[in-house]
Amino acid sequence: MSRLPLSTRPARSLRPCAAVLALGLTAGLLTAAPPVEAGPRTPPKVAVAEGTGGAVSTVDPDATAAGIEMLRRGGNAVDAAVAAAATLGVTEPYSAGIGGGGFLVHYEAATGEVHTLDGRETAPAAMRADTFAPDGQPIPFAEAVTSGLSVGVPGTVATWETALERWGSVSLRRAMTRATVVASRGFVVDETFRSQTESNAARFADFPATAELYLPDGELPRMGSRLRNPDLAATYRAIARDGSDALREGPVAADLLAAVQDPPLAEGSTRVARPGLLTAADLAAYEVVERAPTSVGYRGLEVYGMAPPSSGGTTVGEALNVLEQFDLAGMGTTQALHHYLEASGIAFADRGRYVGDPAAVDVPVGELLSDGFAAERACLIDPGSTLPRPIAPGSPDGVYAGCPSGTAVPEDDHEGLSTTHLTTADRWGNVVSYTLTIEQTGGSGIVVPDRGFLLNNELTDFSFTDTQGGDDPNLPGPGKRPRSSMAPTIVLRDGEPWLALGSPGGATIITTVLQTLVNRVDLDLTLPEAVAAPRASERNGASTQVEPGFATQDLAGLGHSFTTTAEIGAVAAVELRPDGTLQAVAEPVRRGGGSAMVVDPGDG
Ligand code: GLU
Repeated sequence: MSRLPLSTRPARSLRPCAAVLALGLTAGLLTAAPPVEAGPRTPPKVAVAEGTGGAVSTVDPDATAAGIEMLRRGGNAVDAAVAAAATLGVTEPYSAGIGGGGFLVHYEAATGEVHTLDGRETAPAAMRADTFAPDGQPIPFAEAVTSGLSVGVPGTVATWETALERWGSVSLRRAMTRATVVASRGFVVDETFRSQTESNAARFADFPATAELYLPDGELPRMGSRLRNPDLAATYRAIARDGSDALREGPVAADLLAAVQDPPLAEGSTRVARPGLLTAADLAAYEVVERAPTSVGYRGLEVYGMAPPSSGGTTVGEALNVLEQFDLAGMGTTQALHHYLEASGIAFADRGRYVGDPAAVDVPVGELLSDGFAAERACLIDPGSTLPRPIAPGSPDGVYAGCPSGTAVPEDDHEGLSTTHLTTADRWGNVVSYTLTIEQTGGSGIVVPDRGFLLNNELTDFSFTDTQGGDDPNLPGPGKRPRSSMAPTIVLRDGEPWLALGSPGGATIITTVLQTLVNRVDLDLTLPEAVAAPRASERNGASTQVEPGFATQDLAGLGHSFTTTAEIGAVAAVELRPDGTLQAVAEPVRRGGGSAMVVDPGDG
């Protein structure tokens, strides 16, 4: 049975008015609040779903349901991705939202092409290489996080708008409809949300607009209570009406700027919240960039990822190229994992030295992803022992021979562990893999007063000082985009989409995507097994982070050193199987478990 579509467009167009009535919603033109019982119901969380007609995987059942509803009503994978992302902006507000940015990878069935959108937050024109280290000394990291200074121009709404204009079949208004209902009706607070609020409570309490929303009556939100965000519903309506211009000019943009330029601290608060440098001109100038994807061949598959300023595509791709030099499937699990850890450490060394915003620095993407470079780097791996850390970066210069080693610098790894990822696929064979973030869990901690959304602290992804002995590609600069680790990925087999995945988790995003691919492709685990398996994250630091279930003993014997951490990453993935069925896979346990659904589960 073929799963190829006849067209990427739905056979019939949506009827927004009917949809509006069916949902009883107020987005756009209507102004009266909907009756509480009229909103959509939250489905139960399921980690694996199989069937046909389209699939969605996210961390959150309201978001997955929004995507599935869009698919059910004839929308395509892009429409569903925006519907799910807009809902995540409500229900996962500490991980992603309209105050942040992200990267979207899209497989277009009609053309067989993979496209990507760079909706990364961008530094203001006034930003300089020493903005985070004005006297040569970096300002305290925590102080930078909770500040206006770290807020980049948000790119999320512009990403949604561009994706819908390029490949979608519904309006932005339509795509945000259900999310607007969820914002005004509220979502049910779960353990993950409560504990994320708890770890942010001290700084949230310092900003009245944040406290009012997320610390109702000065308390942590109760588990099982309903958290409503009418201000965000109103902001979503403004966006439904004005598109991304709502964040470039006009009253919402003005409030955003005011909050960045003069962070709205509580009276009497002693917190240092440095003002930001954003101006109206910075907001007005924001552009989503359509970029060529990164692409590598791996064991007969084509792996597409996100190009710089994300390091996701080059780092996952380089590590896969290195691993392809070895027969992982035939060497036993301990050796396969040893090679996985070494390849990851090597690729991180090159990431640190070479990857930044391509508008500001020359990133040798082609050489980093070349087989010649991979062979030179693979040559360093010794099956009997672990390379000493830090591993030195290589020379992706087009001349490859032997096993050269350079001068190592310690890794600078301070990205947050927040973010969210979603994957959608439709009945026509279109696929979206989309990672979005506000950086730290809780972003800058600053909710724009009366607008209901948190501002990002993405500019803390820049290096604060040169970490590369004079060659740091990731120093701040005017209009520059900070290097990211986000790694939305789509894998083709025989020219057709086979697997799409991604994860949150700062720099552990890269290792989570890489390990899941190795698990699925080389170790022949099923996708649910590949996702559930205990993770290890090797990033060329002093030790490798591992989850408690990861077996370390044999690897320690080879010289690896480990530190245990409770959880690494949170994959959301879809596999398109040869029989035409779809398998949506979310986390069974991490982050409280994710939510996978298909449009038509059939009998299964
Ligand atoms: N800011 C990080 C990045 O762009 C993501 C933040 C996170 O995952 O916590 O890679």
